[in-house]
Amino acid sequence: MAASSITGKVQTVLGPVDPETLGPTLTHEHLLIDFRVVFQPPNNLDEAGMAEEKLSLSNLGWIRHNWNNSLDNLTLLDEEVAKAEASHYFGSGGRTMVDVTSNGLGRNPGALARISKATGLNVVMGGGHYIGSTHPDEFEVMTADGIAEMIIRDIEQGVDGTGIKTGIIGEVGVSAPWTESEHKTIHAAVIAQVQTGAPVLIHPGREEGLPLQILEAVQGWGGDMANTVMGHIERTIYDRDALKRVAQTGAFVNLDLFGHDSSYYPLAPSSYMPNDAQRLDQIEFLIDQGHVGQILLAHDVCSKHRLKQYGGHGWDHIISRVVPQMLARGISREHVDQMLVDNPKRMLTFA
Ligand SMILES: [Zn+2]
Repeated sequence: MAASSITGKVQTVLGPVDPETLGPTLTHEHLLIDFRVVFQPPNNLDEAGMAEEKLSLSNLGWIRHNWNNSLDNLTLLDEEVAKAEASHYFGSGGRTMVDVTSNGLGRNPGALARISKATGLNVVMGGGHYIGSTHPDEFEVMTADGIAEMIIRDIEQGVDGTGIKTGIIGEVGVSAPWTESEHKTIHAAVIAQVQTGAPVLIHPGREEGLPLQILEAVQGWGGDMANTVMGHIERTIYDRDALKRVAQTGAFVNLDLFGHDSSYYPLAPSSYMPNDAQRLDQIEFLIDQGHVGQILLAHDVCSKHRLKQYGGHGWDHIISRVVPQMLARGISREHVDQMLVDNPKRMLTFA
């Protein structure tokens, strides 16, 4: 790793901070996002008009089930809404939020800095590139080194001339099956990690063997497992042996969909979205296997219906409701603090 002024520190949108100051941390969120890239028109022709409706009490039940069939639901672009919602998290004791709205999802550095100032939260901004369907055309001819230069510039100089710097490379998207362009963007993320010491956070497509396949490729490119996060674990790996093999790589495992409790999964109807109790089953398994030091927690809020003012659980859900559930099930306070404070601190500190 190239030592730089950020080595040993965490890079937030307001500048570098001492890792000891982070406190409870959510490691995969979207304060603002334009997630219409996953929009699909309703399957049922009778419901076609609902795609254009604003979210309201009369369609909220439908949206909870068909969350990617509503254009309004997939746009979180209001800074004032984000500030109010993030304040609930601060009020519950949360102190840091990792916003992994990477290129392709409407990243907005200025807004993240304003939200951080207004709420008092540390906000770490993501870089790198989301799944292939959002990649610019020039990626077909660019090399991994060329793409890595863009990622490194965001870390060292800031995004789009704002001077606001990224503190993590992610979420870097991989589809199932893994495309050629996405091989380049993962390779580019690894090159940037090796050069800067920044952590890499990966979004895998829904295929059970894919997370391990990606991590093996990351290792092959010289990536640092202790500085790499595999995301969306709970909706990707149902099999315990497969989960164990991923944890045995040494990478962080992110159970990052807490609060998403509708089992129907519109993006992959043949699979399912686990609920919080099933997430806790997976966490207890990982703890039993000796992997508590790699577990990270988040909600991956990426649509309106997950926020309080639209009838959702809000960003205080993990601290206010999941942690008490963990303690009631016999997970120790020490392990809770490890997952919520110590592991994110280690993950976000530049190597
Ligand atoms: Zn996400």
